[in-house]
Amino acid sequence: MMFGENCGMSSTISLPKCSCCHRHIMPNDKCVKFNCPNCGEVLVWRCESCREAARTYTCSSCNFQGP
Ligand SMILES: [Zn+2]
Ligand SMILES: [Zn+2]
Repeated sequence: MMFGENCGMSSTISLPKCSCCHRHIMPNDKCVKFNCPNCGEVLVWRCESCREAARTYTCSSCNFQGP
């Protein structure tokens, strides 16, 4: 049995998740995305409300927390 890179259904659009509140980010959301300033490996997403509330995010790779 082979495991391809694309196993499963590819019809569902995978929305990015906010790194602060873990909600899905809508395409029309005024979100920001940037790489983790500590490890640079993880793309951090912040939704509009978290950006305005200046919530801290946690990097899923290095656990760096930042505003
Ligand atoms: Zn959020
Ligand atoms: Zn990181």
